[in-house]
Amino acid sequence: MLQAKEMSAALLAWYDANARDLPWRVGPAARARGVRPDPYRVWLSEVMLQQTTVAAVDRYFRRFTALWPDVQALAAAPDAQVMGEWAGLGYYARARNLLKCARVVADDLGGAFPRDEAALRRLPGIGPYTAAAVAAIAFDWPAVVVDGNVERVMARLFAVEETLDKAKPRLRALAGDLTPQTRAGDHAQAVMDLGATVCTARAPACAQCVLRAPCRARAAGIAGDLPRRAPRVARPVRRGVVHVARRADGAVLLERRPGRGLLGGMLGWPGDGWDRGDNACQGADATPPVAARWQTSPVEVRHTFTHFHLILTVRHARVRADARPSRGDFVAADDFDPADLPTVIRKAWNAARAAPQDEV
Ligand code: SF4
Repeated sequence: MLQAKEMSAALLAWYDANARDLPWRVGPAARARGVRPDPYRVWLSEVMLQQTTVAAVDRYFRRFTALWPDVQALAAAPDAQVMGEWAGLGYYARARNLLKCARVVADDLGGAFPRDEAALRRLPGIGPYTAAAVAAIAFDWPAVVVDGNVERVMARLFAVEETLDKAKPRLRALAGDLTPQTRAGDHAQAVMDLGATVCTARAPACAQCVLRAPCRARAAGIAGDLPRRAPRVARPVRRGVVHVARRADGAVLLERRPGRGLLGGMLGWPGDGWDRGDNACQGADATPPVAARWQTSPVEVRHTFTHFHLILTVRHARVRADARPSRGDFVAADDFDPADLPTVIRKAWNAARAAPQDEV
């Protein structure tokens, strides 16, 4: 059995030859030449990557860093523009915290991110994982970085057979044992890359794995069964309604959602019921935001959030030019871009557009 030091050395050698080319990453060759990662880019990518895939984040990261190349630029950006650019990435509390954090770093810390985990964790929106990742990747602190990829590799490498919910402390301790004092950032990224490209969830490619010799799950023939998962709890289903109102000049009625809660701070169609969880609102009994001949789209919108499935009834109407809504504001056609809407809100727009033409 290889010792932790030898496994880490083997992983780093594998990473030197196989590191993924990612827009936010300073690869091992550049690191060896003395190029240092920009903590702003590391932090931004790690916040974006929470609950999201590398492929989904790529274009958002490029767009954000083109618009706001450093933390001061992001801190000075209007909230609505940042929320609009974030639309589609989901988990919108992250975008609100992103801005809060940028402003603390720019205004109170002179634009410099703290170097250690404890100080990073005091910043808005930075939890244990992000603090460890930024400390390790940006500053080479020997922080223990544990995401889903790392948990999977540890569970297999050491054949941890407890279910994941119970095994987390042990997997973290094992990841800590493997973390070297030098090149901690590259080590963290090496384990994550191995999990993403070789030790994948569905089909671990053990024959190509640099850790195949010491891997206990491979030896026991149970690699594909680990990590074991606790039985899934079924998500509840909520129902609700949204109202899509359009004027003849193309203006649409939108409202900014409250800062806290589901899709907080994002633009949306005036709606009822669906974000309260009370299942009270089935459509016809919802109060429309403006008087009109409302029709119900034959297409229901279905969307899954972390904690529930949502089925939305979409009501739509063409409204008069002088209509005075009780909530929301009309946004001129030139200022309306569906790409600025969260995914579920955009789905409702598509359902309304696909419906037969409304009459005033
Ligand atoms: Fe994963 Fe297989 Fe490598 Fe073990 S040998 S770490 S199961 S890919």
